[in-house]
Amino acid sequence: MFRAILAASAVLISGAGEVLAQPSPFEARYDPAIPDARATFGYAFGEEITPPEDAIDYLYTLEAAAPDRVEVVEYARSWEGRPLAYAVIASPEVMARLDDIRSGLASLADPRGLDAASRQALIADLPAVVWLSYGVHGNEISSTDAGLRTAYHLLAAQDDPTVETIFANTIVVVDPTQNPDGRNRFLQSFRAARGLEFSGDRYTAEHDEPWPGGRYNHYLFDLNRDWFARTQPETRGRTDAILEWRPVVVVDAHEMSGDSTYFFAPSAEPFNPEIVQSQRDAQGLIGRNHGTWFDRLGYAYFTREVYDAFYPGYGDMWPTLQGAVAMTYEQASARGLAWRRRDGSTLTYADGVNHHFVASLSTAQVVAENRERFLNDFVNFRASASTSADDPQAMLLSLSGNRWGAERMARNLAAQGIEVGRVEPGTSACGTRLDDGGFLVRFDQPAGRLARTLLEATTDLPADFMVEQERRRADGLGHELYDVTAWSLPLMNNVDSATCRRSPTLATEAVDPEMPIERVTTQHSAEWGYVIAWTDAGQARFVAALAHAGVAMRTTDLAFRIGDRNFPRGSVVVPRHGAPDDLDALMNRLAAESGARFEGMATSWVDEGPNPGSSNFLALRAPRVAMLWDAGTDPTSAGATRYVLERRHDIPVSVIRTRSVGRAQLDNYDVLIVPEQGYGGLSGTLGSSGARAISEFVREGGVLVGLGDATRWLASADVGLIPAQRERAADTPRDGAAASGQVVDGSVLANEAELRVLEATAGSMPESSPGALVNVVANPNAWMASGYDGGAAALVTGSDIYAPVAMDDATTALRFDERDALLAGGYLWEEYADQLALKPFVLSTSQGAGQVVAITQSPTTRAYLEGLDLLLLNAILLGPAHSRALR
Ligand SMILES: [Zn+2]
Repeated sequence: MFRAILAASAVLISGAGEVLAQPSPFEARYDPAIPDARATFGYAFGEEITPPEDAIDYLYTLEAAAPDRVEVVEYARSWEGRPLAYAVIASPEVMARLDDIRSGLASLADPRGLDAASRQALIADLPAVVWLSYGVHGNEISSTDAGLRTAYHLLAAQDDPTVETIFANTIVVVDPTQNPDGRNRFLQSFRAARGLEFSGDRYTAEHDEPWPGGRYNHYLFDLNRDWFARTQPETRGRTDAILEWRPVVVVDAHEMSGDSTYFFAPSAEPFNPEIVQSQRDAQGLIGRNHGTWFDRLGYAYFTREVYDAFYPGYGDMWPTLQGAVAMTYEQASARGLAWRRRDGSTLTYADGVNHHFVASLSTAQVVAENRERFLNDFVNFRASASTSADDPQAMLLSLSGNRWGAERMARNLAAQGIEVGRVEPGTSACGTRLDDGGFLVRFDQPAGRLARTLLEATTDLPADFMVEQERRRADGLGHELYDVTAWSLPLMNNVDSATCRRSPTLATEAVDPEMPIERVTTQHSAEWGYVIAWTDAGQARFVAALAHAGVAMRTTDLAFRIGDRNFPRGSVVVPRHGAPDDLDALMNRLAAESGARFEGMATSWVDEGPNPGSSNFLALRAPRVAMLWDAGTDPTSAGATRYVLERRHDIPVSVIRTRSVGRAQLDNYDVLIVPEQGYGGLSGTLGSSGARAISEFVREGGVLVGLGDATRWLASADVGLIPAQRERAADTPRDGAAASGQVVDGSVLANEAELRVLEATAGSMPESSPGALVNVVANPNAWMASGYDGGAAALVTGSDIYAPVAMDDATTALRFDERDALLAGGYLWEEYADQLALKPFVLSTSQGAGQVVAITQSPTTRAYLEGLDLLLLNAILLGPAHSRALR
């Protein structure tokens, strides 16, 4: 049945001539049996901004009107309980055999063992899936209504040759609102500010969102960076759906500045090296078709600028690395119903909806007209992951050290369709021995390209692109790196790994992403109590849960030994005396929930180090944690920090608006977190009353934790809570250029380099780094560095470098590694790396009865630096033990 339709449509060939001969989508005649926006909402598509719940309801309305051609699938619930759903749109013949088709597409996605004949038979038989997704940034509003209009048009247009071709060759999936909580937040402020007439003035309240804005989800994540970290339910539902449907083309429709036009593929440089030529060619094919439609309709557009294809956490890059041709489309945003542009023209909301609608249809058209090509390219991508013999063929991940992190990372990889095999303890391979076992990930698997870019320390930037970036920097132009240059999961999770030159032959057991991490305990007597080694964040999570359950515990800054068992500093003892009667059951239950490890202690006698009764053991308490929130803080930093503590470690965080800190009861809390700074800055929003309240909180015994550039505020002259000083760029003139007057001393320049020095702004800060992973080294005496004796990697972004601090003033708990060992992954400007080496990463000091901790590069960025979770937990759990508050 399907073949017959294909044969009929095979005469259609993509090309400008065809587009010009076809009716425009705006000339369609629609079937009145399919309800449009006016029939459903009372306004035409583009007249109003449809709320997220209504958008999902409309999909169900379409399903009810055309049940043989639509199936709506709810794939996730947002944190605030809103449904996320996509509509599968296909011909009745295709809908009747969807299970069959999905299983055929799964065979194409794993072509191992598929002979040429069955592969060709599948490609001849199967429709190609086109995935259209909208509104991942909640205040990029027009795309959602464009998605609804696209779904309507496909179902309602009559005698439309383009639509017929699309139905004959494809399944179109429409995901209209990828971030319903963000869209709802935008709509709330938009509706609250509306008056009699909608203003196009960009400075009016309708356009001007209050903190945190609608871009982010509930925990203030940029969901367009989360695809491989999969921290958010919206992302997890989507990655599962993509793996289930195996689309050959994925569109992620956005909005950009209202003064701009429209962006579509081809993407800008740099391209991730795992992208293959056929994907680039297909981007060109699709872009050309859009260009023809846009020209015909008089829409301006641009290609190959700004929006790059390098970072694998984008909504277009992750599907690309799974074998699809995935692209970002960007429409200028009216950020409301109208936007007066700088050139005097007005952009309406309806314009944006129309542009995304045309680009969506044009995408499906190209796939429909080239169905076999797209399916063939997809299979070839999935079959071609094995590398040349010169490249590493696999990677081993070790369970020694950060056991919890390695277990979590293996599950995260497996959930992305990457085959991960568990390896027995004592296995030797790839020049390493896995005493405690580990995991093997081979790169010669269908998802090998994604695996490689996620696991290797560095994904190479194209050499000619970097030469150009250095030229731009030398000429005083900004660089063109859009996002971080490193994302290696072993580094970010602080998991020991080894690369394999050859794929080893090892017996492995497939990792199931849903399996809980096992509780581990030993046979030692627990007559006196228990001991919990402070080795990874899972251990700290377990301690937090015990503290929350009211169990009294003690921690020490000194390592100790019981028989042949060594416990590093930070380790926690749980005396049975005074503990709840059900201590054993409680320990077992909470350790199972955390996947933690604990051991019995027969007596409080230790063979080396302090006894639990020593004053070197400090009482732990369940920390009451507060965090600054709202204007002056960076939404993503505040949100990700709260997410890490609440959802990964089950520690609730009370958030206090910056404007209210001055009158808040801060003594209700043990710990106050200051996230990174955002618009308005901390000085501007906290004012002197806020700063005074925070100082008082610390001096009376609170623990203050500053993240990233909050360090600047802690160190500022009028706050003075940490003795840190930012460094100017080491290679710019200190003075001279700042001299006033119209006459200066003359100079003789020997070469261009000398000229560059004079042209540099006197006393300027180091050039901002887009983000690289950098090795850090622990101070073996610092409690803040407990659990980090093996070092870790931090993500360095921005331009802050702090000068070394005198030991009497503060403890440098962790510092950046020396120059030769500094860079762990990615790209750092040479002069920045030279200056950063050996400088402080984490500083701590006591102030009055309290503690101040400054983590100069944030450990919670995107919640994907899981290897630094323990650093935050050190501050929150061990910090209060080190304060001298009277309780
Ligand atoms: Zn966007």
